[in-house]
Amino acid sequence: MTLRWEPDLDALIVKDLHKNFGGLEALDGVSFSVEERSIVGLIGPNGSGKTTLFNVVTGFHPTDKGEVYFYGERLTGLKPFEIPRKGLGRTFQITRVFPRMTVLENMLVSPREQVGEDFLSVFVKREAVNKQESNLTNEALGLLRFLEIEKLKDEYAASLSGGQLKLLELGRILMAHPKMILLDEPVAGVNPTLARKIFDRILKLRERGVTFLIVEHNMDVVMSFCDKIHVMNKGQIVAEGSPEEIQNNDQVVEIYLGG
Ligand code: ADP
Ligand code: MG
Repeated sequence: MTLRWEPDLDALIVKDLHKNFGGLEALDGVSFSVEERSIVGLIGPNGSGKTTLFNVVTGFHPTDKGEVYFYGERLTGLKPFEIPRKGLGRTFQITRVFPRMTVLENMLVSPREQVGEDFLSVFVKREAVNKQESNLTNEALGLLRFLEIEKLKDEYAASLSGGQLKLLELGRILMAHPKMILLDEPVAGVNPTLARKIFDRILKLRERGVTFLIVEHNMDVVMSFCDKIHVMNKGQIVAEGSPEEIQNNDQVVEIYLGG
């Protein structure tokens, strides 16, 4: 009999990742796994390697050593545009949307890949947007409704608040039907009400089967929404556990207090 669903299935496995920037070990042997349908927080002081880890996992930076597996498939060596097609999406610390396009147009731009930001690419994609079939438009509108920003659909992205931009970026990622999403500081600079709303949507998406790995400095949301937390310091994972375990971990407290 084949087992159709394994409760302990790992969505992501990272093995001994190394990344050196001119002598600096930004990643110094990082290993961990993320269980399917979990919300895992990745915390650590500035410069500890969190964004670099995302960049290496998603193919934006080649790894010097180590491997990444997604649902058992090796991702190491794949190009950044190939990763979303495998079902692994990501957002960026600095939100990436097209400011001169409307919210709806942003949702329809190259939904299944990460696009370049050069002018020509935007121009060509806008032509493509005009030809989008209505079912894609309907899907986009449905997601905007889910994210509660549907009423902004005809607004230029440039006019959105920081929190609304984060929701739009999440919406764009969802157009690709990801099985897992890496979020880099999804509520940084977002007011507390909207921050809760964003995490509430994340919980809803998890109910639908999406797995999350989230870099976030807001300890309130990390501690209340994450199932598990990994702590990075100087390119290494130095602690992992439940929010309660992490809060009571002397080493973690020291890392934060010691700067
Ligand atoms: P975090 O996201 O945890 O704040 P980063 O991953 O951005 O940390 O950075 C980890 C270290 O790697 C820092 O010392 C940073 O200066 C360095 N670094 C990150 N990206 C690059 C890069 N593209 N080139 C050179 N150094 C980098
Ligand atoms: Mg960062």
